[in-house]
Amino acid sequence: MGLFKSVEGIASLRQAACARMRRMQTIDSIERGEPRANAMSRAKTLQSLRENPHVSVLVIGGGINGIGSFRDLALQGIDCLLVERGDFGSGASAASSHMLHGGLRYLENAEFRLVNEALRERDLMLRNAPQHAKALRTTIPIFRWFSGTLNAPLRFLGLRDRPGERGALVIKLGLWLYDRLIRGQRALPRHDFQLRRAALAALPQLHPQIICTASYYDAWMPHPERICLDLLRDAEAANSRCRALNYVSAAGGDERSVNLRDELTGETLRVQPSVVINAAGPWIDFVNQRLGNQQRFIGGTKGSHLVLDNPTLLAATGGGEIFFENADGRIVLILPYFERVLIGTTDIRIDNPDDARVSESEIDYLLGMASRVFPQIQLEREQIVFQFAGVRPLPYSDGGATGQISRDHSIRSLPPAREGRYAIHSLIGGKWTTFRAFAEQAADLALKDLGQMRRKDTRHEPIGGGRDYPTDPASWLREAANSTRLPAERMAVLFARYGTAAAAIAEHIAAGDDCPLRCNPAYSRREIDYLARSEKVTRLDDLLLRRTLIAMLGYADRAAVYEVADVAAAALGWSSERVVDEIQRTLDILRDQHGTSF
Ligand SMILES: Cc1cc2nc3c(=O)[nH]c(=O)nc-3n(C[C@H](O)[C@H](O)[C@H](O)COP(=O)(O)OP(=O)(O)OC[C@H]3O[C@@H](n4cnc5c(N)ncnc54)[C@H](O)[C@@H]3O)c2cc1C
Repeated sequence: MGLFKSVEGIASLRQAACARMRRMQTIDSIERGEPRANAMSRAKTLQSLRENPHVSVLVIGGGINGIGSFRDLALQGIDCLLVERGDFGSGASAASSHMLHGGLRYLENAEFRLVNEALRERDLMLRNAPQHAKALRTTIPIFRWFSGTLNAPLRFLGLRDRPGERGALVIKLGLWLYDRLIRGQRALPRHDFQLRRAALAALPQLHPQIICTASYYDAWMPHPERICLDLLRDAEAANSRCRALNYVSAAGGDERSVNLRDELTGETLRVQPSVVINAAGPWIDFVNQRLGNQQRFIGGTKGSHLVLDNPTLLAATGGGEIFFENADGRIVLILPYFERVLIGTTDIRIDNPDDARVSESEIDYLLGMASRVFPQIQLEREQIVFQFAGVRPLPYSDGGATGQISRDHSIRSLPPAREGRYAIHSLIGGKWTTFRAFAEQAADLALKDLGQMRRKDTRHEPIGGGRDYPTDPASWLREAANSTRLPAERMAVLFARYGTAAAAIAEHIAAGDDCPLRCNPAYSRREIDYLARSEKVTRLDDLLLRRTLIAMLGYADRAAVYEVADVAAAALGWSSERVVDEIQRTLDILRDQHGTSF
């Protein structure tokens, strides 16, 4: 019955507007031999591994830390294979609060090394990937002058482990230190304080009982999953001996080889790596167990987020992030997210990352905390258009407050059992913000094992469409719009989304008849067609959840799933049975993991 309904749905969509246009595009591209490029390259890579199973470095896990390591090793000229059991960037890396930040709060735990590194990396991202990293004014509403004045220094000295609400004095000290750490290399303005009257004039919906606000600058990532894709594509373009496969998992192995399973077909094959980087994030211990090692490295904590359609709340943020710590030290952030608002997050111990879902009590908690900051704004469950939960791959620790577990990264190495066997380097912790530095550390260990020297520093390496990023975007846009004849506004949307890589996408769009998606006109059919063909799209949910923001912004209803499936099917040459499977799988994921009701 479900299958019949899906086929019916596709048939009716096919009769909709743009049908003729779409057919012509499909015929056109089949004649040019374009479709199935993704499937072909995946099949070719798998075949090449069957023929020659040896790889210098096997990276297990395609989150930001595995992909960062893969990119670094590619630039050093190493042959490297990355396998990801799902889609790239679909684990913890898809569940972040979207911040590129030093971590003001970590100062209290005396994590100066981490804060220093994170601030430096944040600023590098602003330069290397301006299409992905945006400056963000952040405001902290403050309710007390002196609260936490004693707690914070005590915790700093290791004499107290319970956090508490911070008053103005402690926040002032933290922000002063934050500014000091980056003096001399400042990419963003310094912090400032506003007393109650000025604060309420700027953000009138804030709780009237605030005594003041503190504002400072950090950065955010509108679409982190695209950073993963850009890094992967940069790596493969720089080094043809580097290959990355999604939907392939490390399923087992012995001290000499690792068994890989193709999650699409169930087929297994064996590779023989010289070095293994275990970048499976919260699943690191599970992967090590499959490779015969029982150590416990990870003690993950779950964090959940809600995306709300609430224009009043969006306006109340004044276009900046509101960052708030409650009485038990837990952080709540309210981030304007395009036409929506992102609210996060929680910090709850969890054993199996596969079980991470947003719970009802987390929804109550997050809505309650946002109401505490903006008491006059009605926040309702019905306004939630998307939700997501993920697990931080934190180091294992016994008890204590979860907020106090170090957010710093480290590498735990399991040496080879014998001469000629592989070592395993497990990447523990690591924030989005610090991925480049962490990847550099991991790559250096692998290079050492291989007896190779570092050839390239990645600090100033542009990412994806951050390459040749114009100092004068307006004239770049004019030229691009002229050469492709796309309307200037459309070109501007593409540039904001893809940076200079927008030029190639615009060319593809301009080469055929295009029309906006009905579900979200900010995207068009030929744009989706381009992403499907050239961005390692394997499953339908890759397009809706990670290559685009269609689902994240709450537009992935049933019709949207069918509409995008239609474009993907033509681009990737899916059979009608495959289309039905893909639609069903995507609906299930949206319902089960993201609270979408159909
Ligand atoms: C709620 C939350 C909020 C956060 N907010 C921020 C923030 O605002 N800023 C910030 O800088 N950081 C933030 N972080 C931290 C950051 O997102 C993570 O630390 C980082 O993404 C971890 O990346 P990773 O590559 O190590 O792990 P992951 O992204 O989880 O990648 C590991 C990958 O391994 C794959 N895998 C598992 N088993 C196998 C197998 N057998 N074979 C092959 N592949 C396998 C998984 O599918 C997964 O994709 C946040 C994290 C969470 C959870």
